[in-house]
Amino acid sequence: MGIYAVTGAASGMGRAVTDRLRSAGHTVVGVDIKESDVVADLSTPGGRQQAVREVLKIAGGRLDGAVLAAGIGPAPGRGRPRLIAEVNYFGVVDLLDGWRSALASAGKAKVVVFSSNSTTTTPAVPGRMIKALLDGDADRAVRSVRLFGKGAPGIAYGGSKIAVSRWVRRNAVRPEWAGSGIRLNALAPGAIMTPLLEKQLATPAEAKVIHSFPVPAGGFGDAGQLGDWAVFMLSDAADFLCGSIVFVDGGSDAYFRSDDWPRSVPVRRIVRYLRRFREFGR
Ligand code: NAD
Repeated sequence: MGIYAVTGAASGMGRAVTDRLRSAGHTVVGVDIKESDVVADLSTPGGRQQAVREVLKIAGGRLDGAVLAAGIGPAPGRGRPRLIAEVNYFGVVDLLDGWRSALASAGKAKVVVFSSNSTTTTPAVPGRMIKALLDGDADRAVRSVRLFGKGAPGIAYGGSKIAVSRWVRRNAVRPEWAGSGIRLNALAPGAIMTPLLEKQLATPAEAKVIHSFPVPAGGFGDAGQLGDWAVFMLSDAADFLCGSIVFVDGGSDAYFRSDDWPRSVPVRRIVRYLRRFREFGR
């Protein structure tokens, strides 16, 4: 049986993962701003350091996996873009940086980050915001969405999830992660019926946008099913899954972007790999 850290364990999909892992006999160290083993505010650097420290202490310095599900939605509000950047981006990467050695200690750890299909279905997310987050600059990220006015939280949400997905893909293939046996992947859900979505549906303007959004499979996703996906991605079945973003969104991403991906790798990248890197040959 393994020991897993799960953020956002008090609600929605994080809770669904936690319940499933515990029912299967695993130990889960839950992290949340409320009702959890480790109560920490992931919107502040101090809260993130506390979460890293306390989880490592409880887990004894070894983690078989981690699920990063804490997140906040694109509700309207002035300070919202900052909160979104802090929780949805830094609340993932700071924790994973802090837990990396403990994950490596397990030999074949698995990590599942909760991204979103907002990554590919939110229009006009500025590249500046994504770059700022990947550079670790929250102030610059927040400034880059100011001109969107009332639409800023929605743009910031999409930007935070794009940045965290790119962080996953960039790091998943590096020696510190792939080479240490850690499988780093992400889930990109569509609209899943959780308290986060219920809050959005309670606002008539947001509900209208959500109900008019194209979902070829129809309806809303189920938190328990996403919990099952996460547990599957923590299992041995994911030994060869590395840097993947798995969309579970009823087809919205495919509807908007069917021909954007897969796309062949540019020749210059292959040439560069063959000339200079050759890191991963068998
Ligand atoms: P949820 O609101 O049910 O759960 C999120 C949890 O994160 C809550 O328990 C909350 O307390 C915790 N959290 C929020 N701010 C925190 C903070 N500052 N510090 C610590 N914990 C904090 O939401 P959910 O729908 O289960 O979402 C889980 C993840 O999936 C999120 O990252 C969300 O962005 C993502 N997601 C959700 C949907 C959806 O439709 N529900 C769609 C795509 C992606």
